[in-house]
Order: sequence, then structure tokens, then C-alpha cells
Amino acid sequence: MKIPLADLNLQYQSIKAEIDSVISAVIEESAFIGGRKNRFTNEFEKAFSDYLGIKHTVGCGNGTDSIEIILKSLGVGFGDEVIVPALSWISTSEAVSSIGAKPVFVDIEENSFCIDPKKMEEKITSKTKAIIPVHLYGHPANMERIVEIANANKLFTIEDCAQAHGAEWKFKKVSTFGNAGSFSFFPGKNLGAYGDAGGIVTNDDLLAEICRQIANHGQIEKNNHEREGRNSRLDGIQSAVLSVKLKYLHEWTDKRIDIAAKYNNNLSKSKFQLPACSKEAKHVYHLYVIRVDARDAWQKKLKEKGIETGIHYPIPLPLLKVYNEFQNLEKEFPVANKVCKEILSLPLYPEMTDSQIEYVINALNNIN
Ligand SMILES: *Cc1c(COP(=O)(O)O)cnc(C)c1O
Repeated sequence: MKIPLADLNLQYQSIKAEIDSVISAVIEESAFIGGRKNRFTNEFEKAFSDYLGIKHTVGCGNGTDSIEIILKSLGVGFGDEVIVPALSWISTSEAVSSIGAKPVFVDIEENSFCIDPKKMEEKITSKTKAIIPVHLYGHPANMERIVEIANANKLFTIEDCAQAHGAEWKFKKVSTFGNAGSFSFFPGKNLGAYGDAGGIVTNDDLLAEICRQIANHGQIEKNNHEREGRNSRLDGIQSAVLSVKLKYLHEWTDKRIDIAAKYNNNLSKSKFQLPACSKEAKHVYHLYVIRVDARDAWQKKLKEKGIETGIHYPIPLPLLKVYNEFQNLEKEFPVANKVCKEILSLPLYPEMTDSQIEYVINALNNIN
């Protein structure tokens, strides 16, 4: 049996008629480019805000831009420091560097894989302006504690929700804790477009307006610019696709949680360390990540059985070559460093069948 890590085509087939019809509607109206007047973009922004229970969604070009635009809009820039977790996709730190600030890495918690609030305070200096917790794999970071630390030190909190659409901490959706949340709608995310796409969400009216301007050349309205911005818009086709898919997000998230429960209940706990879910959290399982010794050998054995797996991510951010000023600092990030050698992401997507799930479970439990 061949089992991919994710299967976007199956999902498309399940909603093909609706998707095809909205895409042609966008083309018929030539509503290609996003902006204040694009009805497809407006409709999605409104629907996504309602879904989260937040005041504003500002669509933009991709998830990386969403972090960058929020930082810029908050006035973070050259000479400032921004705290980010040692384990994430590079976008989180890249967005900080791209506005001229310096990413300051903090190790992660062993259980949640998210930034460790206990190790955060010692990294705060007079230059620190913001903290970007990442809700990695769909498990929320400890937002209560993080916001407490941010408030006590007068720092902005920007939640990187790229992997956590609909995740909750104590029954409150992630993205609604800090000053703003950033989302990616990259095709493979829990809510994915059919190309690059991103979104900024916030309850702050002024911040939303500045983000909206920056994402569209600083325009307030046509030819009225009080600042320079850039070109990072959520286009019509992506907006229309996202509006269709958003209606299914609850259902798809429930499926992800069901599949994770099957893995949790059936995978051998003596062979693998299964992902923990804090009792305060609703985990949305963007990725189901186990830990295992001799991980690379396991990945190879599973591949021979037709099972595709992933490693998210093989190297902690501060140990990447680009951040080479941190080289040989494995000791500063012991958890991220250890975890990166053991993590393995198993196939998990809402359309997985029971026989596929069983096949993965049996393969893992029976291979030695
Ligand atoms: C995917 C991702 C991003 C960036 O999203 P893009 O839309 O690809 O730019 C940012 N942070 C994390 C944690 C991600 O997984």
C-alpha cells in the first residue's frame, strides 16, 4: 500500500464542483488581484474573522509576509531583538531578520515542542521588542504564560499560527491571545489555498489598518499613500478557494483529531514516544510527530513499506548555517537539538481511510 504524508488531490476531488465554480466566477469577474474592493477577498476575510472570533483579517501574499508585515506595522525594526523558538520553519526567524531586527532563539519544551516560557525571560534585554511563539505541529504554545511575560516586559506578542488553524488554549482559539496572529494558507497547511497565501489577524483596529496599507503599497485608497508598503496581496482565486475550504475546516480538523487518537491508542508506546497533548490544549494535528531512536533507519524501513514520512525539522533554527554565529551552541538548545534527531512525522490527512491508518499502525508496531 502506498501512503503519502498528505494527499491534496483527494481533498480537491471531494469539493471539486464547488472549487471549479468559484474559480471560474473569479475569472469571469476578472477579480484577480486582492485589495479593499475585491469581493472574494473581502468575503474570505470576514468569514475567517468570524471563524476565529476576531475583529480583523487582512489577507496577504503568504505566511512569511504576514509575520513581516505585522512586525513592520508594530514599528519593530533595525536594532531590535525578537524572541523566537529554536524549532520552527525558517519563516519565523527570517521575517525578523528581513525587517532588520535580530532573532533571539529560545529552546523548546520537551512535551509540546513549543517555545519554553521558563527559558524566555533570561533572553529578554533592553532591545527586545516582541515574542513570536509558534504553535508547532498544531499544538498551542503556553499562551497564558507567554502573554504574562510579554506584558510584564512591555513586549508585543505575535502568534505564528501557520500550523494551527483552529487550535485552542483553554477553549480560546490561538491567534486571539497576542497583539496579532499570522497565518499561512500554503496548500499543505490545515487550511490551504491553491498557491501561496497568508493572513494577518488582530483585534486592534489601527494595527489592522496599517497592515492593510503595508500589504498593498501603503495605499489608503487609490493613489493616496501616507507610507511606502509592498506588494503582498491575497488574490481573488486564492480567496475564493479558501472561502469554500473554510466551510469544511471543522470537519477536517475533527478527522485529524480522530486519526491522531487512533495512532495514540494503537501505536506501541514502548517503541515510540507519541506526541503529548496538554490538557489545556486543543491540538489540531497539522503534523503527527513521534520520537524514535535511529529515526533515519525507521524512515527508510517505512519507505520500503510504501509509507511516506517527514522530518519537521532536521536542524534547529539557530544551528542552521545562515545563523552561524550560533555554531557550536548545541548546549544552549539541548531540547531542540535532541528532539531534531528523533522526530518523525507520520502520514495524517483528513481523507485517510481506516485501512490506511491500520496499515501505518501495523507497519510501525511490527517492524523491528
Ligand atoms: C508554513 C509556515 C510559515 C510560512 O508560511 P508561508 O506561507 O510558506 O510563507 C511560517 N511559520 C511556520 C511555522 C510555518 O509552518
